[in-house]
Amino acid sequence: MVASEVAPFAKTGGLADVLGALPAALVKLGEEVAVVMPRYRDAKIPASDRIASNLRVVFGAHAFTFGVDQVVEQGVRYLFVDCPPLYDRPGIYGFADEHVRYAAFDQAALAVARYIFRPHVFHVHDWQTGLLPVYLREVLSGDPNFLGAKCVLTIHNIGYQGRFWAVPVTDLGLPRSTYNPEGLEFFGDMNFLKGGIVWSDAITTVSPTYAKEIQTPEFGFGFDGLLRSRASKLTGILNGINPEEWNPAADSKIAHSYSAADLSGKLECKRRLLEEMGLPVELDRPLIGIVSRFATQKGFDLVGDAMALLADERFSMVVLGSGESQYEDLFRFLRSAHPDRYALAVGYNEGLAHRIEAGSDMFLMPSRYEPCGLNQMYSLRYGTVPIVRATGGLEDTVDEETGFKFTDYTPEALVGAIQDALMAYKMPLSWRTRMLKGMAKDLSWTASARAYQHLYGQVASF
Ligand code: ADP
Repeated sequence: MVASEVAPFAKTGGLADVLGALPAALVKLGEEVAVVMPRYRDAKIPASDRIASNLRVVFGAHAFTFGVDQVVEQGVRYLFVDCPPLYDRPGIYGFADEHVRYAAFDQAALAVARYIFRPHVFHVHDWQTGLLPVYLREVLSGDPNFLGAKCVLTIHNIGYQGRFWAVPVTDLGLPRSTYNPEGLEFFGDMNFLKGGIVWSDAITTVSPTYAKEIQTPEFGFGFDGLLRSRASKLTGILNGINPEEWNPAADSKIAHSYSAADLSGKLECKRRLLEEMGLPVELDRPLIGIVSRFATQKGFDLVGDAMALLADERFSMVVLGSGESQYEDLFRFLRSAHPDRYALAVGYNEGLAHRIEAGSDMFLMPSRYEPCGLNQMYSLRYGTVPIVRATGGLEDTVDEETGFKFTDYTPEALVGAIQDALMAYKMPLSWRTRMLKGMAKDLSWTASARAYQHLYGQVASF
């Protein structure tokens, strides 16, 4: 596997969570897995072994020397590409030479495959690794080391494509023939993700519904036609969650443990969360939680109007997130207008994320689109009833028995779902049944890892 972020070493989102869990789940099924990622300055890497040094990648006018450090955990070999000029920088993303950083990373991963770990299948993730299949097929096609090797690309979010203006493909060591509308070109730009889609043997995304949605203009970010033409290669495989990290019966980050057999601790979690966030401790008032990046994708432009329409309803809301200032401002405004109802924490805070999952009665995800989504799955596990828009992985993981869904992307539709949830909350027995159904759902990686294993078997036999 090749990816730009892997939990717990470096994480900005769901991609890292997948890379932190899927490889170990595959090893349990008998596969041999190595994971390659860059050694960023801020990566939290335990004591590692330097297993190779002075490896080189050379392309266009670029040449880099790198070493490889190894950590083995749960039977998975994590291999870190140590190339200080490219990765020893503050932060993970957002540099002007991003195309060079990840083109070099993809080539470094191929060098790792040549000298250190020879895979039957390269499983690459998101745009940062989109050029690996292109190098494999267009530059290394005659290399006997890679005879029969296949590529699987997983798209975790098609909104992020790695588009670069005025970067000649030759500068990245690729033949000129790869730059055309059937190849790496996308409306005059070089597009890394497109390379992955065109040159991979199979494409997956992180839920069956998102696999269908990205073939439509509304969700495809310009790739709907391209994906429709490759529909037979495209499948959706749901992410799982890490059941050890997200387990209300053994979660050191929450105020009191609880389980389906004894839910009483959840009320204590609610009390402590209300205290921590400075809200009135009224335990019978429904509490809605939000933990999210503040981004347009997540649907917060609906929330302002919806909250105005819900002014007469009785509930409270706790929000944890960071990102675009317009959404921070929205929640700051709500808090200052109704301090007894809305609480806000700005920032990235894993402990508080757990306490919100445990202490809330309901969890809100009104996403415009959601490839898979993890928080609704954490919510199910924590007996916190999700209220979600019926899109992508939200559609696939939440049903009428475990949560509340709305379809139209309008404040009115969102209000309808929240009102249904508030009404249902007034009937404690059926609410409890709903909580227990969610808690009983199998959200582990096992089923997903089997689906990936099956796919690897299919592509390897092409
Ligand atoms: P995305 O990858 O689009 O951000 P996901 O729901 O797939 O959305 O994954 C988000 C992950 O990041 C989850 O593990 C979630 O708990 C975590 N997360 C998001 N925002 C925060 C935050 N402000 N503090 C703590 N954890 C967060």
